[in-house]
Amino acid sequence: NMQLCKPQKPLRLPRKYSSKSCHLQHGARPVKIVRASYQYAYDETNTEYLDCVNSMSHVGHCHPAVVEATSLAMVTEVASSGWEIDLGEPKYPKDLRQILPDHLDTFLFCNSGSEAVDLALQLSRLYTCGTAVIVVDNAFHGALDSVHQLSPKIYKSNNISKEDWVHSVTMPDLYRGPYQSDDPLAVEKYVADAKDVINKARDGGRKLACFIAEPMLTVPGCIDPPSTWLQELYKMVRAFGGLCIADEVQTSLGRVGSHYWSFQAQDVKPDIVIIGKSLGNGYPMAAVVTSREIAALLGERIKEYQCTRMMDAVGCAVLNVLKQEHLMESATEVGTVLKNELMKLQIKHEHIGNVRGKGLIFGIEIVWSKQSKTPARELADQIVYRMREKHVIMANEGDGRNILILMPPMCFTKENALILSQGLDKVLAEISTQRISQAVNTAMQPRVGSCEGRLGILQPQDDDDDSASSKGTVNLERVLQCYQDLD
Ligand code: PMP
Repeated sequence: NMQLCKPQKPLRLPRKYSSKSCHLQHGARPVKIVRASYQYAYDETNTEYLDCVNSMSHVGHCHPAVVEATSLAMVTEVASSGWEIDLGEPKYPKDLRQILPDHLDTFLFCNSGSEAVDLALQLSRLYTCGTAVIVVDNAFHGALDSVHQLSPKIYKSNNISKEDWVHSVTMPDLYRGPYQSDDPLAVEKYVADAKDVINKARDGGRKLACFIAEPMLTVPGCIDPPSTWLQELYKMVRAFGGLCIADEVQTSLGRVGSHYWSFQAQDVKPDIVIIGKSLGNGYPMAAVVTSREIAALLGERIKEYQCTRMMDAVGCAVLNVLKQEHLMESATEVGTVLKNELMKLQIKHEHIGNVRGKGLIFGIEIVWSKQSKTPARELADQIVYRMREKHVIMANEGDGRNILILMPPMCFTKENALILSQGLDKVLAEISTQRISQAVNTAMQPRVGSCEGRLGILQPQDDDDDSASSKGTVNLERVLQCYQDLD
């Protein structure tokens, strides 16, 4: 594998040829990766980085079995349009069938998750003769025009106007949402809100086509919805004649550890499932998985969505590795260790507000203080930068970009989990020390009307306090107050 991935110069599209919206992690100082192997990536100086985010390389970067299968298929591939080519029957659909529930027996293959979502939308409209769609607030389902409409994350942040056939339900975020875990009726309230939205969608005079959601809401920050919420939504949508679509682009092929698909962990039965990214370990392939009855509505067009020789070879290789290397079982074990470590860090560090997730998919909320829960994007940015200095690659996502997302390749080990958690522990301690010394400095300063930047919100507490600081003695209570006030 090392030989297949010899160090090279990084491939860089000059800025003048790339769009400004092309987002690079670590902004002005991106890591210049020249090769990668399993859960490790290497820069120009051959420095090794632990990759905690690239879920697309599902079974590991440049996994030799996948590289070999891809290369072999590439040399025998016949690119054609309109020819009849006898490739024999592809094996991949059969292999995939074995890990899906019985009713999901038909595959429509394509090249990207976005395409698959668009196709699922078309199918649901053909099947129901409806047009209205229910989505989850803050969701993201892909980059096509039609799919942007299903992605509140996009239309909220980019001034794209929302079409009136789209209706979004409140995301059941028990940490930060309108109803939180201290409210015993929170889940019922989220369900009631969703019911209102679905009723209003129908009152608008449109028939319901579908409800689309990630069974684990990864893009908005790895929110694992309470299963009763998803089950109730599926029931309501079906009662109104709509289909239920599960977007498994991020969560498929055992990432949640306990099951191959996250909808199984939620105990729901979607009518259509979208799969992508991880299927090809980096090779662009995706699929709509549904019943024969629903797929048949495409008529002759169904032939456009065949499994190609490349997809067959790559897809089978990925599934083989997943099974042979027991990566799903490993995700459960490693995920349990990682979660325990992250929970310990949450108790220890003021800036970790919430840890959620399972298997090898986690979200860590970085906040200014546990009490205020104010999203701390600046701290999340700092953590990502400092972890990179420790050669661990992480990313921050979510509405406030304060959520650290962990979705490493599935070959991530317990040792990797410990390196990650120990690194985080050190970085969080450094950040806290720095902030305390900032607070001490501020508390020791003579009375000030206002200070610059983030410290500007600090106000002297009372005369006593002020005299203490002007004499150069530190009033500990005030320091703590300053520290807490820094958000
Ligand atoms: N659904 C989800 C949940 C996604 O995160 C993405 C892309 N990140 C897509 C769909 C679209 O997939 P693709 O990039 O392959 O078009």
